[in-house]
Amino acid sequence: MELDDFRTDLDTWLDEHEAELAPDRARIDDLDEQMRHLSVVKRAVFDAGWMRWGWPERVGGLGGSTILRAYLGEALTARDLVEPGVYSMTEVLAPTMIDYAPPELAAEMVPKLLRGDETWCQGFSEPGTGSNLGSLACRATPTDGGWRVAGQKVWTSLAQYAQRCVLLTRTGTPESAHRGITALFVDMDTPGITVRPIEAMHGSLEFCEVFFDDVAVPTDRLLGKVDQGWSIAMDLLPFERSTALWHRAAYLNRRLQQLVTDAPSGAIDPVALGEVTQLLHAFRARSRSTQHRMAAGDRLGPETSIDKVLLATVEQAVFDLALDALGPAVALGDDPEAHRWRTEYLYSRAATIYGGSAEIQRNIVARRLLDLGDDR
Ligand SMILES: Cc1cc2nc3c(=O)[nH]c(=O)nc-3n(C[C@H](O)[C@H](O)[C@H](O)COP(=O)(O)OP(=O)(O)OC[C@H]3O[C@@H](n4cnc5c(N)ncnc54)[C@H](O)[C@@H]3O)c2cc1C
Repeated sequence: MELDDFRTDLDTWLDEHEAELAPDRARIDDLDEQMRHLSVVKRAVFDAGWMRWGWPERVGGLGGSTILRAYLGEALTARDLVEPGVYSMTEVLAPTMIDYAPPELAAEMVPKLLRGDETWCQGFSEPGTGSNLGSLACRATPTDGGWRVAGQKVWTSLAQYAQRCVLLTRTGTPESAHRGITALFVDMDTPGITVRPIEAMHGSLEFCEVFFDDVAVPTDRLLGKVDQGWSIAMDLLPFERSTALWHRAAYLNRRLQQLVTDAPSGAIDPVALGEVTQLLHAFRARSRSTQHRMAAGDRLGPETSIDKVLLATVEQAVFDLALDALGPAVALGDDPEAHRWRTEYLYSRAATIYGGSAEIQRNIVARRLLDLGDDR
């Protein structure tokens, strides 16, 4: 399927089904409702075929360019039918399963994620390990039938909803650093796993602490090879900075348009609006070329850190502009719209942290793209 045909057919289908796919606007900030509604939308677009385009046939897809996935998420986000953060988790985790899981496991599991029958989470960060994943300590010890996992993860988004987790574990000595890490695909209902949601400053229980108390993981849940989890993480993180961010830009574009429509006359500084618009277009131009490189089969890598820096900058700029233009309504208003702007403003502060902090992205750009040396 070519992009032009896909776009025309999908837009027509969405015009016909938009009303039945629309979220309950009064509950748009409620995470339980967002997750329930996400499953409804994913199931509908999967069953109608749209969600299957751009994914390989061996995992239930219909093949075709990855650009089709980029457009589907863009269309759903631009119409306010899904929240991009929860929708795009598929783009972060499914490619890793496809590339690294045993083929039978990928064929069994990926369609469940695409169809919204399941939610998955990403267990990388730990209390002492965020930017420096090479120091992670959650240990997987070999047993007769696989591994026994003991340790803790933190900031694990959506873990309380997740059926599965892509988990990084320590299998080498602590000194083995990035060489002694192994990735496992873990069922979240395995005995020994405890999930405790954490309330973020915008009031949502989006992420969690996850405790592993001698959790048994079978042999066939190994992703890639033992002690090669680092390269899996390095392959996964660029996906977090590619199609997922393209979808996020569609959402920022929509919110910027809504701000322009909703703000009282004269409330928006035109120069500031021009600057934010320019930042948004710069990001979209950059991300567009990333989507095309991915579609051409290029292996994404450290250059996606540029995408993440640009996205975080424009995300914060959009909501700074909203705060300036709407002022007290954002800070104090009780109606659902004011609440939504406030929530999004607060969440936008996380854009320079999640998926690798702004400082770490700049370090990657400096060292790996500009060859400006290491820490010393
Ligand atoms: C909304 C949200 C969702 C998240 N979801 C997930 C998830 O699903 N799964 C998951 O595994 N993690 C998740 N995270 C965690 C995220 O990946 C980490 O917070 C992030 O990588 C930073 O790690 P840290 O919090 O340990 O901070 P630290 O690594 O301790 O960093 C603290 C500060 O020091 C700076 N810093 C650290 N090292 C350097 C350096 N070498 N040079 C310059 N500055 C440095 C950082 O930029 C930061 O400002 C999420 C975070 C957020 C905010």
